[in-house]
Amino acid sequence: MSALSLQGVTVEYRGVPAVSNVSLDVAAGTVTAIVGPSGSGKSSLLLAINRLHALDGHARVRGRVYLGGDDAAGLDDYTLRRRVGLIFQRPTPFPLSIAENIAFPLRAHGVHRAEIPARVEAALQRAALWVEVKDRLSAPARSLSGGQQQRLCIARAIALDPEVLLLDEPCASLDPLSTARVEDALVALSGTTTLLLVTHNLGQARRLASQVACLWPGEPGGTLLDVGPVARVFTQPAAPVLEAWFAGRTG
Ligand code: ADP
Ligand code: MG
Repeated sequence: MSALSLQGVTVEYRGVPAVSNVSLDVAAGTVTAIVGPSGSGKSSLLLAINRLHALDGHARVRGRVYLGGDDAAGLDDYTLRRRVGLIFQRPTPFPLSIAENIAFPLRAHGVHRAEIPARVEAALQRAALWVEVKDRLSAPARSLSGGQQQRLCIARAIALDPEVLLLDEPCASLDPLSTARVEDALVALSGTTTLLLVTHNLGQARRLASQVACLWPGEPGGTLLDVGPVARVFTQPAAPVLEAWFAGRTG
């Protein structure tokens, strides 16, 4: 059974599709990259999985999302967002200390006080940040570099043990060295957490993912032109526009 399954998912804003009829299965403990030009509906698709499109009164989602076999429509927001974490392009740490960024949501989700320090350390370890911050846990999160802040956000998201972690261009605001550290953290996570990674960076998709899904802007809305194993999609893509893009002739 897939950790995450999208079946005919369409996201519309004011009746206009941003992304149309996407079906995609993600096996547990694997990394799937979603690549595609700007405007192909990558962010809309991720927000729909976590039902955050509901924050926009004009957005509507059709199709089905299954999480470990459960229809996501049958889960309340609280349960859905505990089971599916989301990381944005720009790091979004709370204006709190490094440790509190993780402790606060743990407490909010009812984790016992006595367990919190060990859970904070474990999350920072899994996000490959512990060594850099263990001696400054009470320093403000905002005092960290961008790449460290992004790994802190990953630690915060995985502290609640989500089955699936959605990442929307998590390295787009980072320099190459910070990007490499975030990639290290994602490699460490893969295997235990199922990752769905939107990235503009085709090299990053090749490095991290086993499966790649290619969205392309269209009328009406982005469509999935190809999905399959990274080695096949990048060498023999299903559409000529993808071949041109991968070869660097477009985009
Ligand atoms: P990507 O992440 O691939 O760049 P998006 O999901 O952000 O694509 O956008 C896909 C399409 O949906 C674009 O045409 C964009 O203008 C439109 N869109 C995105 N968000 C909204 C919104 N909140 N309201 C109206 N249109 C939107
Ligand atoms: Mg986007």
